[in-house]
Amino acid sequence: MNVLINLPKAQLLGIDNSHLCWVSDKIGIHKDMLNAYRKMQTAAKKVHIDLHIASGWRGFDRQLQLWNNKFLGKTPIKDLSNNIININHVSELDKIYAILVYSALPGASRHHWGTDIDVFAPNLLAKNTQLQLEPWEYEKNGPLSKLSQWLEQFSQEFGFYFPYDSYRGGIAHEPWHLSYAPLAEHYQQQFSIASLVAVLEESDIEGKKIIINHIDEIYQKFIVNINKR
Ligand SMILES: [Zn+2]
Repeated sequence: MNVLINLPKAQLLGIDNSHLCWVSDKIGIHKDMLNAYRKMQTAAKKVHIDLHIASGWRGFDRQLQLWNNKFLGKTPIKDLSNNIININHVSELDKIYAILVYSALPGASRHHWGTDIDVFAPNLLAKNTQLQLEPWEYEKNGPLSKLSQWLEQFSQEFGFYFPYDSYRGGIAHEPWHLSYAPLAEHYQQQFSIASLVAVLEESDIEGKKIIINHIDEIYQKFIVNINKR
């Protein structure tokens, strides 16, 4: 994979998406991951799991919108027990930490790289129900538990793994989030706090000053605090 030795900063930060291929109108993934993904999808199909991507590449601007909506109370912030947090009762710093449990900081989302996908299997969902992307759906007795078990057993054969395989005090357990290791590790290695701060400085992110003042803590707790494989 020596083509990736020097990744453009803009790709790391979700500003450039020229490295993607599109599997549907809205879902883009890294073009060098398509083959591995298709192979995994074919293997899953053999055991009647219709593997689909719910979310692939997501750009900086979209992540910024998700962030600001939560910060401003336009969309709810939930805690690990799925309860909505009353943002009027917490400090701005605590609000930032609460958002980070489920939403990455713009510029620091693994979805910016195109190497990470949220997956599900529509054929396993009950009729007339929609994916909620909540852990219970993927856990034992949940509609997607068959998918979880299969991915745990076989996804690594295709190069994929779960970066958020358990809660480590930072990001919540995300049993739907897969990362394609052969590419993602390059992005992870070249991620830099300085570039992140530079792009945040230029942005309209809510809570900017506090985020930048606590960037080292955020980095340790929410960016590198993941499954090391
Ligand atoms: Zn994800």
